[in-house]
Amino acid sequence: MSQRAYNFCSGPAALPEEVLAIARDEMLDWHGKGMSVMEMSHRSDEFVGVAQTAENDLRKLMGIPDDYAVLFLQGGASQQFACIPMNLAGLGPVADYVDTGIWSGKAIDEASRYLKVHVAATAKPNGYIHVPGQRTWAHSVAPSYIHVTPNETIGGLQYQWTPSTGKVPLVADMSSEILSRPIDVSRYGLIYAGAQKNIGPSGLTVVIIRKDLLGHASPQTPTMLNYKVAADNGSMYNTPPTFSIYLAGQVFKWLERQGGVETMGEINARKAAKLYGYIDASDYYSNPIQPDSRSLMNVPFRLRDEGQNKAFLAGAESAGLLNLQGHRSVGGMRASIYNAVPEAAIDRLLEYMDEFAKKG
Ligand SMILES: *Cc1c(COP(=O)(O)O)cnc(C)c1O
Repeated sequence: MSQRAYNFCSGPAALPEEVLAIARDEMLDWHGKGMSVMEMSHRSDEFVGVAQTAENDLRKLMGIPDDYAVLFLQGGASQQFACIPMNLAGLGPVADYVDTGIWSGKAIDEASRYLKVHVAATAKPNGYIHVPGQRTWAHSVAPSYIHVTPNETIGGLQYQWTPSTGKVPLVADMSSEILSRPIDVSRYGLIYAGAQKNIGPSGLTVVIIRKDLLGHASPQTPTMLNYKVAADNGSMYNTPPTFSIYLAGQVFKWLERQGGVETMGEINARKAAKLYGYIDASDYYSNPIQPDSRSLMNVPFRLRDEGQNKAFLAGAESAGLLNLQGHRSVGGMRASIYNAVPEAAIDRLLEYMDEFAKKG
């Protein structure tokens, strides 16, 4: 119908076309109320209903148990890097972090301002191509929590397993993989994600926290960053990002219509297998990550001749394949293939890559 390109952006990322069409149709007059959802009081019954439905749908999609709170916050995942140590301060002075790349590194740096960070394992010695197996993790004596980054958006490294941390709360930055595959929420103490990769538009950050972990914040924690305050006020201590919550809610409904996270997990595995399969079979493209640690969401790759990078990107753009440039810190290419990137986008990308390789 439209001129929509295939968008491989790492974030803000592609949204389902169906969701955007609903937002367009409801933009000027939401459900006969004579105004956009953006123009409504966040305290109105209408908007409280929108937010409650979004939360309920997320709970259903992820199977979030009742003893977990779901918070709709702001500030992005980056703000959570500070919020987590501040809010869990009462659990102890030392937290363990696993370093698998740039995002876990940022989480470690920020947390170090608030508590003592012990790096229990790092993928640095292997060049960040392999997630260190849990047998190699060396923990501090009594960690207050253990922090992992299950999907490293920039490096393209992903856990294919869930760490077992016993009674120690497992804290996970799922920004770039939430809702991409089924997980067992009860294995985690806290899950957080910026919305702009796999949930909806930027401006919204989702935190899922086991309720017994609320109420342990350090006294200096700003009111606005205190999870207990957010939980006690239904994420509406102040004005929440209403439009982002509304759109996220539409994405949750869309995911339900696709068959939920089980189906998305199958589709995502198929999409990634096609792309990695092609890259591995090619002598023109390469991906350095060990197969057991490869991301199903973010696929970095390099051309044999890096002098052709600009030509590759220009040709891709003409073919309607956008945002394939790798992160500025690592170079090369990266295809982010989140839930909203259809399988047809991978097929078209592979056609283009093949044409390009044959010329090169
Ligand atoms: C994008 C991303 C972040 C940063 O998210 P913001 O919402 O921009 O702060 C943090 N962690 C991971 C894994 C990410 O992919």
